[in-house]
Parts: sequence; C-alpha cells; structure tokens
Amino acid sequence: MRAHALLSASSAHRWLRCPPSARLEDTFENATSVFAEEGTAAHALAEHKLRVFLGQKSQRPESDFDSADLQYYTDMYAEYAAELITAARASCKDPIVLLEQRLDYSCYVPEGFGTGDLIIVADGILDIVDLKYGKGVAVSAEDNPQMKLYALGALALFDSLYDIQVVRMSICQPRLENVSTYEITVDELTAWAEKELRPKARLAISGEGEFLPGEHCRFCRARQTCRARAEEYLSLAKHDFKPPLLLTEEEIAEVLSLADRLSLWAADVYAYATDLAIREGREWQGYKLVEGRSNRRYTSESLVAEIVTAAGYTDIYKQSLIGITDMEKLLGKQRFKELLAHLVEKPPGKPALVPLADKRLAITVKQTAEADFKEEV
Ligand code: SF4
Repeated sequence: MRAHALLSASSAHRWLRCPPSARLEDTFENATSVFAEEGTAAHALAEHKLRVFLGQKSQRPESDFDSADLQYYTDMYAEYAAELITAARASCKDPIVLLEQRLDYSCYVPEGFGTGDLIIVADGILDIVDLKYGKGVAVSAEDNPQMKLYALGALALFDSLYDIQVVRMSICQPRLENVSTYEITVDELTAWAEKELRPKARLAISGEGEFLPGEHCRFCRARQTCRARAEEYLSLAKHDFKPPLLLTEEEIAEVLSLADRLSLWAADVYAYATDLAIREGREWQGYKLVEGRSNRRYTSESLVAEIVTAAGYTDIYKQSLIGITDMEKLLGKQRFKELLAHLVEKPPGKPALVPLADKRLAITVKQTAEADFKEEV
C-alpha cells in the first residue's frame, strides 16, 4: 500500500478545486524536504510528550533536528493539547483520547486515509487537533478541508458508538503562535461530504474534471509545467487595455498585481528549467548556465577576530563578528587586505540560467558537478 493516499487530506484543498491535479501530481516524484523532515521530528517529539502526560510508556525520540527551538515549540503544542485533554476530563467521566490515530475517510474519498495528531471524544463533541510545525503561512482551521477529512475519518470510527453532534477542529502552529479553532455540526459536515466531497473525489481519483489554476497551485508538484496554469498566466499577460494613451492609476495597480502573480509563476518555470540544465545537462534555446553571484565569507571567524584584535581594533562585534563589508570600513581597504586577505574567500556561485546575451561565461554541467564536489569536500 502507498504511504500517502493519492487523495490525501493535506492536498484536499487543491484536488477539491482542481480535481485532475491529483493524478497529474502523481506522475511527479514526491521528494521530501528538510522542512518536512523537521515537521516529522516535531510530531514525534510532541507525541512522546503527550504520551508521557497520559501516563503511557514512551521513549523520547532523537533526531538531527533536536534543538532548544524544537523543545520549546513542541512544549507549546503539548501544553495546549494537555489543556484540551484536561478540560475534556473535567466535563466527561471517560473521554477517549487518541494520538497519531490513522483515520480512514474512504467512505467518501476512494482509498482516502490520513493521521490525526490528537483526537478527543467527550460529551457529544469530537475534537480533532493538528500540529503544524511550519512557519511559512498561518493556517486557519475555518472550513479547512484537511481537517474536515480527518473529522470524517474520526466520525467513521466513533459516530456509531458515541452520540457526537459537533466536531471542533483546531490547528496549533506554535512557531507562529497561531491557534485556530472551528466548529461544525456533524449534520453540516456530512451534508458537505455528500454534496461536494464525494463527487469531486470521484472525479479526482479518475483524473477527470476541469483544471483550475489558482492560489492552490502553490505547492502542486505539477505547477512548473502545468499547461492550464501556463495558459492562465499567459492570457493574463495579454491584458487588453482600452484608450486613453496612458494607463490610469487603476490600470497601473492592476498591472502590479498581475506582475506579482506572473513573476511567481515565472520563478517556478525558471527553477524547473535550471534544475534540468544542472542535473541532466538539458539545453534551452537562447539560454546558458553561468556561475551565479556569490558573497565573500571568512574562512575562520576566530582567526579573523584574533588578528584584528591584536592589530588594536576593538569594535568588531555586534551580535557576532561584524561582516566583511563593515570590517573593510573599520580597517580601511588597504589594512583589511594586509591583515585578512588570506582569511576571506569567495565561494563559487550557484549555477544560474541566463539569456545568451549575459556577459558571464557559460559553464558546463561537468564544471558544475566538480564545483559542487569541491564544496562538499
Ligand atoms: S498547477 Fe494548478 S492548475 Fe495545474 S494541476 Fe496543479 S493545481 Fe491544477
């Protein structure tokens, strides 16, 4: 069985709007990222803390992400979750509390399943709590499809045993100090599941329905080469302005917002083309790979500090050792060169895809690979 459902809860906001995206995404590698790995480490530690709170046996997980921050933020989540559990215990004699519970919502979404971080069933209320360790964007629980799918999975487990009327969905995002809560009645939730979710899921599982570009494209794995998205943006660029000869203020504002959206899309396409040029030597007509710009850096901060202090300079720390530009100002160019030239290097810049007219010399993939290798040694 696949580790992630094709129609996953976390991508539901996308396939509900653009049903064929699920099948299209499945043709791309689902590469993990350092952020995803950090999130997994945070979930494991948070689960451990809650198991200890519940008096269950648990061994503290270790990971490469162990840090004061990880400790602090998982504490924040664990305290929030513990408060909910305590409140449920106060209002109900024997609430059900489950951690990292597999939730199967396949009664509405073919092969659909996910994992609920914390489920509490008490007194007609089902609580679903989700820890989000990311800090990119604050996520709201309001009408959140991912939470609604988890809720349907939890209802499938408990609804026949307990008289649940209300589902309360909470997202806790400790690094943004964001706690968002949303309540929905079971009747409203199941009406949505029947009317909207089930038909869209049927389309999505068979790769049918209309492609619909929008905000939800942001993390779609097909976003860089999706034709529907390209057509949408290219048609935006063909905006038809009416006379007079000069743009009005409203039109300029419109162009600004178009330009923002277009440049985000263009950055995706650039990233895709650059990646293929570097990894596979792919050539794009009118473009070449060059060494990108890079910044100078100290080879050893402690040696720099030692030399500059011995030369009688004292003002060399702000929160840490001052940067190269500030140091150059403090010492003067000549003295900087005499004292520190051997401790400053300019690492090779990351390869960049630029138009052929760019003055920089083209580099080959082999050069690039060698440069990468040198950096790692
Ligand atoms: S990029 Fe956008 S339009 Fe294209 S498949 Fe993904 S979600 Fe749909």
